[in-house]
Formats: sequence, structure tokens, C-alpha cells
Amino acid sequence: MQIAANKAVSIDYTLTNDAGEVIDSSAGGAPLVYLQGAGNIIVGLEKALEGKQVGDELSVTIEPEEAYGEYSAELVATLNREMFEGVDQLEVGMQFHASAPNGGMQIVTIRDIDGDDVTVDGNHPLAGQRLNFKVKVVSVRDASAEEVAHGHIHGEGGHHH
Ligand SMILES: [Zn+2]
Repeated sequence: MQIAANKAVSIDYTLTNDAGEVIDSSAGGAPLVYLQGAGNIIVGLEKALEGKQVGDELSVTIEPEEAYGEYSAELVATLNREMFEGVDQLEVGMQFHASAPNGGMQIVTIRDIDGDDVTVDGNHPLAGQRLNFKVKVVSVRDASAEEVAHGHIHGEGGHHH
């Protein structure tokens, strides 16, 4: 069975940056399970996997525009400490959920604290980076109608609800 839209796919993968550092990997854990065509994984990886089948191995380099986007200086802002009312201790590296301009949610990371000035960055931690994936296709099956309706995979490695 080939990978196509609405297939439930599981993959083993290792993600490295251009310096060769491992950023993420399924090694030692369970494979990643996702629904092809639903935006569960970055678009560049979905494209590379389309048409592949169980046992196929591939190495693919994905440019930022098909991964986590270009780094945008517009997503960096300096806020007053008062904006973080209710947080006991602000520290560089802390992450918060914030509402994005498009109405969705984004994760912002504190980059710097200078007195009452708190600099936050709404870029994805991997924004602007070229990503190198080594991937092996572990299994491919038809997704259930319910999984397709939900836009994600249920059961082992997927959503439980
Ligand atoms: Zn669901």
C-alpha cells in the first residue's frame, strides 16, 4: 500500500540540522504515527513521503518554507512585565500559549528580560532552519472514517479520546 491522502502512516525518523546535530528522533521510542494529507507533519515531509511504501527509506532536506517557515522579526516583541500577571517568576526560555493574529494559537518563548521589559519571540524554535530527515516507513493502512473526520490518528501512537 502506498502513502496517499487519508492513510495512517507510521515512520521511524531522525531529524538533524545543517550542523549535523540531532534535533529529534524516534530512535529508542515508538514510531511517529500521522494522517497523510492532514497537516499533522510539515508539508515538505508529507510531499517526500507521498507514494512511498512500507520498508522504503529516504533522506530528505526540507527548506524552511516547507518546514516551520522563515524566521520573522515581526514575531519578536517587547512587553511590559505586567502582561505576565499571575506568573510567579519569569525566566528566559519560558514558553506561553498566546493567541496569534490569525486567530490560532502560537507558542511564544521569552528571549530576554531587562527590568520590566520582557522580550518574547513567537517564531517556532525551528523557524528559518533547513531540516534534514532520515525516514523509514514502518506501516501504512487506511485511516478510519472517524480518523479522517478528526484529522488525526487514533489508538497506539495517536490520540486517545
Ligand atoms: Zn480524534
